[in-house]
Amino acid sequence: MDDKSLQILSYYYIVMNDQLDKIKEYVNDVAYNGKNEFSLNLDKIIDSEFEKAFEILDEFDIIKYLEEKYNMNYEKPKLVILENDLSFTAEYSDFENKISFSKKSVDRKIDKQLEYLGYKEIKRSISDIKGIEYLDISYNSIFLYPFYINEKDIRKAIAEAIILSIMFHEIWHSIDFSILRKLVGDSSIKDMDYFIILKNLELRASAFEVVIYYLANGFHNDERGYIAAYRNILTCREFIDKLERKGDIYTDVPYDIGFCYGNIIVAKYGPSLKENIYKIIDNIIHLNKEKAIDEIKLYGDNPEMLLYD
Ligand SMILES: [Zn+2]
Repeated sequence: MDDKSLQILSYYYIVMNDQLDKIKEYVNDVAYNGKNEFSLNLDKIIDSEFEKAFEILDEFDIIKYLEEKYNMNYEKPKLVILENDLSFTAEYSDFENKISFSKKSVDRKIDKQLEYLGYKEIKRSISDIKGIEYLDISYNSIFLYPFYINEKDIRKAIAEAIILSIMFHEIWHSIDFSILRKLVGDSSIKDMDYFIILKNLELRASAFEVVIYYLANGFHNDERGYIAAYRNILTCREFIDKLERKGDIYTDVPYDIGFCYGNIIVAKYGPSLKENIYKIIDNIIHLNKEKAIDEIKLYGDNPEMLLYD
């Protein structure tokens, strides 16, 4: 990495950490006990984020684009909400074409984020925090994820951000399986290719989740949003280094690598994410781990390539 690249990355890193510090300071000022009176109606939120996710996919004609391209009829999955399952947060069943969400797991995730942001419990509906905050979406590394508060209760804002993001991930699985089913009928695809395609399900879903989450929220047009992507790229580059040092690059880490790839796309396209969304989705459909790692190395080592005028 040359000096200029380092300077650019250091700049984003400092801006980002400075913002986080300010947020934490502020949040600590308003922290207090009394969570119960603010417990959320998660059924309602999960239901409405499910509908919202499809409205956004419609708005950008994403399903229509893929239906035409692959000559397929996509069937919207059913949504099932579970009370107490802690073995997963959400999952997609291709067999039943069903997305399941566990309320208890979502609740735990919200608590984890509140703690990360410096809350213990919440005093009241915090209607005076405006603007943006950052979730810590950790798999094996710490990734930051922007979300808007916009005069909402912080717990509700976090819930909506987490649920919408995961919703896109699960919906992608359902879209992906529709495409795969179509490809099964294509005799030009060999058995080995199916194996490669099936192997990268989580990689693709995680990459799609990030890209569409940014697009849905308009973070591609908000510098405070996509600086999080720049910052994550640094983490991603270190993550790949660590895997390589351990001789571990082939270990199964599809969520992390997919998330990193999504962040590269967000940083690479910035405000032109929307105009390029079909091309980006085509690339995600053909994404494999090696391609994703190549991109992470390329842009991680040459971050100046990510800056646009
Ligand atoms: Zn998944």
